[in-house]
Amino acid sequence: MERKILLKNIAVPGIRTFEVFRSTGGYRSVEKALKAMSPDEVVEEVKKSGLRGRGGAGFPAGMKWGFIDKKSDKPRYLICNADESEPGTFKDRYLMEKIPHLLIEGMICSCYALGAKTGYIYVRGEYKYIIGILNEAIREAYANGFLGNNILGSSYSLDIHVHSGAGAYICGEETAMIESLEGKRGNPRIKPPFPAVVGLYGGPTVVNNVETLANIGFIVNNGGTEYARYGSGKSTGTKLISACGNINNPGVYEIELGLSVREFLFEPQYCGGIKNNKKLKAVIAGGSSVPILPANLILQTASGEERLFTYESLADGGFVSGTMLGSGGFIVYDEDACIVRNTWNLSRFYHHESCGQCSPCREGTGWMENVLHRIEHGQGRTKDIDLLVSIAAKIEGNTICPLGDAAAWPVASAIRHFRHEFEEHVLHPERCGH
Ligand code: SF4
Repeated sequence: MERKILLKNIAVPGIRTFEVFRSTGGYRSVEKALKAMSPDEVVEEVKKSGLRGRGGAGFPAGMKWGFIDKKSDKPRYLICNADESEPGTFKDRYLMEKIPHLLIEGMICSCYALGAKTGYIYVRGEYKYIIGILNEAIREAYANGFLGNNILGSSYSLDIHVHSGAGAYICGEETAMIESLEGKRGNPRIKPPFPAVVGLYGGPTVVNNVETLANIGFIVNNGGTEYARYGSGKSTGTKLISACGNINNPGVYEIELGLSVREFLFEPQYCGGIKNNKKLKAVIAGGSSVPILPANLILQTASGEERLFTYESLADGGFVSGTMLGSGGFIVYDEDACIVRNTWNLSRFYHHESCGQCSPCREGTGWMENVLHRIEHGQGRTKDIDLLVSIAAKIEGNTICPLGDAAAWPVASAIRHFRHEFEEHVLHPERCGH
């Protein structure tokens, strides 16, 4: 039977309100943490849970919390990264829109564990309508004594504020987000120092994704060991997957990690197969910045193992034949999809979103977009394909923040697996509609 943690009560009428959320057991974790646990005990449970950051990088959440500089005399902060802008990823939006108190509950426990008295939710500017939903949930939490001074009569006080981004993808990078919150241009910082040591206003800061924080209530209530019983091996818990593209049932699904990709793609309770009975061509499994895989490699690893939704299985084969779980943005392409056009489209996005601080990213993303534009528009040269590979290699690993890699990987992987389509565009543009 399917086990859920985050969306278990999603169908309960009125679950968006404090009253209904509370009646389903909501905010019990805050009572437990504040009355019966020390902050360090909460951190320990999160470490035991094996929960990894759900924003894309997959870094263990408890370990990240453990890096917070306890010697600093500056205030500590928790920032919830709700700047969900990765093409194909829309699961945090769903969570915040449908069950916002799950996030607020998780943030209160997390702030308590970290010793933070102020938390921010940095919401993507395009999610304007969600800001009202979050502010209402926060207002209800204050009104019921779960936020503000001396929460539930304890000595712990906490304020949470919602902050709107202004439409820059790069502000999803944690140090760019901190700069933006401080009122500056969202340029990523050079690390170290890491935010856990020098973060917002110079204070120790943890930045966690919405989905990551929404899991904390369950972990506090049930213990890290119980959380780790969900999932498979080192990939513990569940994961929200936003599925889109040429499938019968696009939407947001909570899956237990370990589910097979084949089952997710073809079973009626998930994607329900490829639309119009077409053949599967390719999948981008974890948001637009992870390598694209052709049909054979998304269903099976190169060594013939069933491909599973785990960090390890999706990465099996490295970047030669594997990919990443990433943010869980699952984009499906059928046999009619044009990989060249899709790659050009993604390239335009990353070029537009580059902050321009480092030249490999600023110049390289522009060059990739230009070269892909001419290939897609019937003016490509044979040597352009290797030129793209070379530009991608020069960007990868040579930039201040991961946007450079995010821009390089889709291009490099598309050529690795679909070189013949690029060659077809160059040699026979008339067959490609040009
Ligand atoms: Fe800016 Fe790109 Fe450099 Fe990141 S990699 S700091 S987005 S120029």
